[in-house]
Amino acid sequence: MEQLQTLRGMVDLLPEAIGSWQQLESKAREHFRRACVKEIRTPLLEATELFARGIGEATDVVGKEMYSFADRGDRSCTLRPEGTACVVRAAIQHGLLSQGPQRLWYGGPMFRYERPQAGRQRQFHQIGLEFLGFEGANSDVEAITIAWDFLLDLGLTNLKLEINSLGTATDRLNYRAALVGWLEQHKHQLDADSQARLNINPLRILDSKNPQTRELLLDAPSLSDALGEESGKRFDLVKEGLSALQIPFVVNPRLVRGLDYYGHTAFEIISTDLGAQATVCGGGRYNGLVEQLGGPSTPCIGWAMGLERLVLLLKAVDEQSEAAPVVYVVSQGAMAESMALFAARELRQAGHTVELDHSGAGFSKQLKRASRSKANWAVLIGETEAQSGQFQLKNLNTNTSSLVDQFQLIKLLEC
Ligand code: ATP
Ligand code: MG
Repeated sequence: MEQLQTLRGMVDLLPEAIGSWQQLESKAREHFRRACVKEIRTPLLEATELFARGIGEATDVVGKEMYSFADRGDRSCTLRPEGTACVVRAAIQHGLLSQGPQRLWYGGPMFRYERPQAGRQRQFHQIGLEFLGFEGANSDVEAITIAWDFLLDLGLTNLKLEINSLGTATDRLNYRAALVGWLEQHKHQLDADSQARLNINPLRILDSKNPQTRELLLDAPSLSDALGEESGKRFDLVKEGLSALQIPFVVNPRLVRGLDYYGHTAFEIISTDLGAQATVCGGGRYNGLVEQLGGPSTPCIGWAMGLERLVLLLKAVDEQSEAAPVVYVVSQGAMAESMALFAARELRQAGHTVELDHSGAGFSKQLKRASRSKANWAVLIGETEAQSGQFQLKNLNTNTSSLVDQFQLIKLLEC
């Protein structure tokens, strides 16, 4: 029979890989907790209209990448490709916005039908932060700072923060006219995708990954020249705020975000240690989205990080922190085995990480497994030890053994 396999772009996370995921998730939780950001969990499946309205029909995500299908009641459903629209829907639906500004975070799988490659999957994982009801430039600075400090705390280096301002809707309209005018003159030099975008979503051309188009765009009119005075002032405040916190950044006037709902601050955090898929965090301000989804006018800023890309970066860091047991319990014989269960339980209740060998194999075999497990200690219980209640405690780093009373075990391991 042919073996069943995961679908293309869908990835199993096997036990050996889980260490870095748990490390990431718990660190993220800790950073959100310290910043008083509350978790929200929304369904993986939403009405297709949410994303069509929330992200924009002309984006790659909605146009090409969504997993959409009709359910048995013939409703068009979509596996969420991103979290922001879902969080905003939930906030509107449950009246969270009438309770004052909300600092929220989410985490979990997202689905996009893309070409899989390193750091790009069809089911991937994000954590994201959304500040709903925050207007001032300082909230942009706080949101970026939380992302930056989390990444630093993971031990990541070679990170680059790029920021830009997309200004107001009017600024973007003015710029759009200037950009389209310029692009029309260079149309024949654009790649096919960018040519197609020229009339639907010209700003997205700035986001093109085609090297020739990127080169050409170096001479295109810059969004910063089209920024109105107020937008410029606001952008200055964000830059000053980051500088005051000594968070290094570069202004990238070509930075536009893939989704339609951004205005004013847009930013990305890029790792120079990753290949083509270098962006680990992307975000920005989306003041129009809540209204677009039927809620009250609400200024917002948020970001999302791709965990697969962080895990790739963390591989080296993770190897040292692999959750090895501290104690490996070896036993032989019925009475010894039940005492081993008892000892393991007590040690775990005292907070130790304990692996229990159930093989019933000879001591030397079990001990070999103990050293392979990277535990620091092995506890040996044979018939004699079971009778006397005196267990052998072996230090696996120094290969020295001593006899210890079963009730003294916990105390000894604590020192
Ligand atoms: P990219 O330009 O890499 O496609 P994006 O602009 O589509 O990114 P966002 O929608 O801003 O990405 O999502 C935020 C983050 O989620 C990205 O910076 C990236 O780290 C991660 N991400 C996005 N799509 C994928 C994917 N298909 N597989 C793995 N991670 C992804
Ligand atoms: Mg993308």
